[in-house]
Amino acid sequence: MAKGEKCSFCGRGENEVRLLMPGRDGCICDECAEQAYLLSEEYLHKKRRKNSKWVVSREDLPKPDEIKAFLDQYVIGQDDAKRYLAVSVYNHYKRVLQLSDSDDVEIEKSNIIMVGPTGTGKTLLAKTIARLLKVPFTIVDATVLTEAGYVGEDIESILTRLLQVADYDVEAAERGIVFIDEIDKIARKSDNPSITRDVSGEGVQQGLLKLLEGSIVNVPPQGGRKHPEQKMIPVNTKNILYICGGAFDGIERKIAMRLNTHVVGYNGGGSNNRVDRENLLQYIAPQDLKAFGLIPEIIGRLPILTYLQPLDKVALRRILVEPKNSIIKQYIKLFEMDGVKLTFDDDMLDYVVDKAVEFKLGARGLRSIVETIMMDAMYETPSSSKKKLHITRNYAEKKLEKTNLLAV
Ligand code: ADP
Repeated sequence: MAKGEKCSFCGRGENEVRLLMPGRDGCICDECAEQAYLLSEEYLHKKRRKNSKWVVSREDLPKPDEIKAFLDQYVIGQDDAKRYLAVSVYNHYKRVLQLSDSDDVEIEKSNIIMVGPTGTGKTLLAKTIARLLKVPFTIVDATVLTEAGYVGEDIESILTRLLQVADYDVEAAERGIVFIDEIDKIARKSDNPSITRDVSGEGVQQGLLKLLEGSIVNVPPQGGRKHPEQKMIPVNTKNILYICGGAFDGIERKIAMRLNTHVVGYNGGGSNNRVDRENLLQYIAPQDLKAFGLIPEIIGRLPILTYLQPLDKVALRRILVEPKNSIIKQYIKLFEMDGVKLTFDDDMLDYVVDKAVEFKLGARGLRSIVETIMMDAMYETPSSSKKKLHITRNYAEKKLEKTNLLAV
């Protein structure tokens, strides 16, 4: 560098700054370089936000009844859970909007926990609501989580997923929604704190608590421990909404026990008759989650507790045909693409439901049963000249008898 050079931006000479870096037609000092870096960061940040698909405006705010109406198109029944979800998501949006208004009344978030038998629509509800949202959303399975240092995924990996969905827009991820499935699987095995180490239970719950409580968590952007050299991204979890789901197998016993003591304690057993023993889940309370093995701190961070009903035959029959993308509608569409009009006997649909109940497959089984029945037709129809196909109960029975599905 020639003697007497000055910074082309501030005009200071070599002796007045710590470092003067030469460029092609001039120089820049360390302070001006730093200033330029900060200005460009700010500019790029604003530009990213403006172009981000995650910017929420007041017009985007669906009302709770609109959210529920949307859910109704895809999920049959489960009205209580839908209402709770709708209100919670609506409030989450309001909180996100308020953050940009920088008001002084801080609205706290209300994480949700949904309890219900497997295959009753918990994941479906969460997935469906995600379609409606303009915030990043991800589903994680609690069973793969372990304490840091053990085989499995670290708790932080939950946030890695959210960051990935948000295209690494940290601000958007910090306002996102995470659905944690199978939360019951990280319950302690008993209500009493154990002295031995519980790799998949209480330790994971403690880790999860860190996320639920709201703290700055250093997240590996690529996830996992395979890239030890990766630079961590700090993510503030304070405004992330968590929706948890779990089957909590056997929790009815805990509910029944609590209801009995309660009733005896207050009324000498008289009002016991009013309890609907067939559907005890509707009485679920936070104490039952504790009795099941969730630590009180976690329960406290999931203030909205709701339940899903087991699906009866009527519900299964509706699931088969009613949702916007019901299994039957999907098959009709598939055949329509080959120019074939597909129809079903009502009787045949009842038969599918009966079999799903008989095989104890629930709603998940409906698809595999219909798939088995339709397989031959799907194979043959595209090459045939048929323009119509009608599926009767008799046809369905024959196809199903032929397969090993009956051996389930
Ligand atoms: P889980 O409660 O175990 O999370 P899922 O939501 O994954 O159950 O349900 C499994 C499948 O069963 C869904 O993909 C959907 O096809 C069907 N299903 C379950 N419950 C319902 C429901 N209430 N309405 C419509 N379809 C449902």
